[in-house]
Amino acid sequence: MATRRRTAATSGPRADQGEPAFAARLLGWFQTSARDLPWRRTRDPWAIWVSEVMLQQTRVAAVREPFAAFVARFPTPAAFAKASDDELFAAWRGLGYYRRARLLREGAKAVVREHGGQVPHTADQLAELPGIGTYTRGAIASIAFGCAEPAIDGNVERVVARHRGIREPVDTAAVRRRIHAQVVAWLPTAAPGDFNQALMELGATVCTPQAPACERCPVAADCLGRAAGIASELPRRKPRRASVEVTARAVLVFDRGRALGARVPAGEPNAGQIELPSGGALCSLDPTDLPATLHERYGAHLDCGPVLASIRHAITHHRITVHGHAGTANNVGRLNWLPLDATTPWTTIARKLFAAVLGSDSLRQSATGAS
Ligand code: SF4
Repeated sequence: MATRRRTAATSGPRADQGEPAFAARLLGWFQTSARDLPWRRTRDPWAIWVSEVMLQQTRVAAVREPFAAFVARFPTPAAFAKASDDELFAAWRGLGYYRRARLLREGAKAVVREHGGQVPHTADQLAELPGIGTYTRGAIASIAFGCAEPAIDGNVERVVARHRGIREPVDTAAVRRRIHAQVVAWLPTAAPGDFNQALMELGATVCTPQAPACERCPVAADCLGRAAGIASELPRRKPRRASVEVTARAVLVFDRGRALGARVPAGEPNAGQIELPSGGALCSLDPTDLPATLHERYGAHLDCGPVLASIRHAITHHRITVHGHAGTANNVGRLNWLPLDATTPWTTIARKLFAAVLGSDSLRQSATGAS
């Protein structure tokens, strides 16, 4: 495999470590078993930063192509710092959670403003950049710059909880501190970036959430969770916050390949993207209240007809049903006619409704003007 490798994959861990063989076994396995991923072929801190942000809450398979296109389009922080909102949304299409992209742009601007366009190379300096949390700081510092910093994501948390047989909920401050201390104790100074990636890789490919493949795990010999027969029950978490059901409504007004839409205001979910006329993604509405709400929100007078399609969507703990009503415009107010294309940053809710509604040939023709 032609992945990036630094030296000393088998360098011995420090003498004061509690698990002297752990890092060596894990790194040996990583050398032969790691997936060949595009961001493992570089030490460019900007590319590694981009990949780490993209990989948050997104599957590896979904990141491969957007990552390559993104670093080709924005090869430096300075290039991305100048990106418009529409360029940002286009570059992030398919990845979702656009807030990550906006924070990445804030971080890129800070790098230009405060570090002459060069990503800083210490964990403390990285921590001061907007959008860089503890995990991302550790990943960039260790992988790009070889700093002995832990990088603890959900995969690492799971591996440590199982390997150390931690039965307490992992989403408590005390257990987080324990997991952090354990990773620091394991971390070899000679190859911290490879070690962090190896621990993540083990969680992603062997010590997986539902069915840990202990029979092919390089650190199975001293795994306490496995020995106790409770590995697949770990990690444990505190009870989740109850979900909230929302019934939102949006209006679909089409004209020759365009639909009426508006920028989502700052402070709301999906701010900066283009939404369909609605009360907002988290606003439960009766159909009779819809016209007045649209007038208040956009200064528009729309006639709202029957429901054409309904879709489901989730934002944090909100479970949203969105009914898409047929509409006609008497006065568009602050709404705009915007194309139904891939470059307009329609919200995911709008795209789901377009897909549901335009799946019908007759509706597609009325919307697009096609014959
Ligand atoms: S032995 Fe099993 S439970 Fe323990 S770390 Fe390996 S895969 Fe995970």
